[in-house]
Amino acid sequence: MSNDLVLDINDLDVQYYTDAGIVYANNKVNLELKAGERLGLVGESGSGKSTLALAILGMIKPPGGIAGGEILLNGRDVTKLSEEETRQVRGREISMIPQGAMNSLNPVMRVKDQIIDSMIDHELGLSKAQMEEMAGDALEAVELNRNVGDMYPHELSGGMKQRACIAIAIAMKPKVIIADEPTSALDVVTQRQVMQTIRHIQSEMGAAVILIGHDMGLMAQFVDRLAVMYAGQMSEVAPKQEAFRSPMHPYTQMLIESLPKLATKGEFHGIPGITPLLRDLPPGCVFNPRCPQAFGPCTKITPKFLEHRPNQWVACHLYENESEKARA
Ligand code: SF4
Repeated sequence: MSNDLVLDINDLDVQYYTDAGIVYANNKVNLELKAGERLGLVGESGSGKSTLALAILGMIKPPGGIAGGEILLNGRDVTKLSEEETRQVRGREISMIPQGAMNSLNPVMRVKDQIIDSMIDHELGLSKAQMEEMAGDALEAVELNRNVGDMYPHELSGGMKQRACIAIAIAMKPKVIIADEPTSALDVVTQRQVMQTIRHIQSEMGAAVILIGHDMGLMAQFVDRLAVMYAGQMSEVAPKQEAFRSPMHPYTQMLIESLPKLATKGEFHGIPGITPLLRDLPPGCVFNPRCPQAFGPCTKITPKFLEHRPNQWVACHLYENESEKARA
């Protein structure tokens, strides 16, 4: 593992055991995150993005479980930690801004007390006054006045509530922040403000951010690299420019082509077909039933996730010979 990696996920398998069969929610997922990096994690619903986030946070609960692989957070495999150790890591080393976060605020508690509550479990050895100071710092970091700590959630606007939730997530200055569609319930202006806030704290604290979502426009503005998931697997990981200008995986190509363009007067082109059931995946490449470029091996052999161009990792048979030729 290179020194500047804060997160290094290798061959991660997450499965859910249901009466209808095993749900393969994450299959041999590989992903790296560098210190201070902004990574976008995209894919349709059911692609495994949220499962991956839960796995990183040690929050996969029965009937689910980690069936294989490792998640190295600052070099330590979090899949091997006890529940208590995992609880200590959450908030301190890694934190999550959940989807619809503002609804997770407790309506009868002052904002400041909710921030302090998130610290108490961690036995930091701090006095109440020190924790209040840290809560105030967290509010300032998300560009809210310290006085907001004395307010109740109903006294805040939607954007302020979302920032208060971000303050809870960053109060202990974690080095990795996972933001799961942090702006999905907000209007466009508030969305922009919240993303500016996340960018601000990310650069101030030097934290790495994984931004999960569907909004490719938001990804284009915010991230350094893009990771594309499909049916529980990683299809492509590439620097943003390459992902948008020269995507390699046919699914990434179709995602990018589906974006509204000025030339097509904003017309949205969906991707034909539906995502497969995660408990009944097709043999070979999971994308083969929808792939316009499928050929011989695609229905039989699972493509390997390989670095086919510098820093551009793809799971697709189209490039395997090309890479072999380049290596020869
Ligand atoms: Fe399409 Fe085959 Fe590549 Fe899968 S491996 S994306 S089916 S070309």
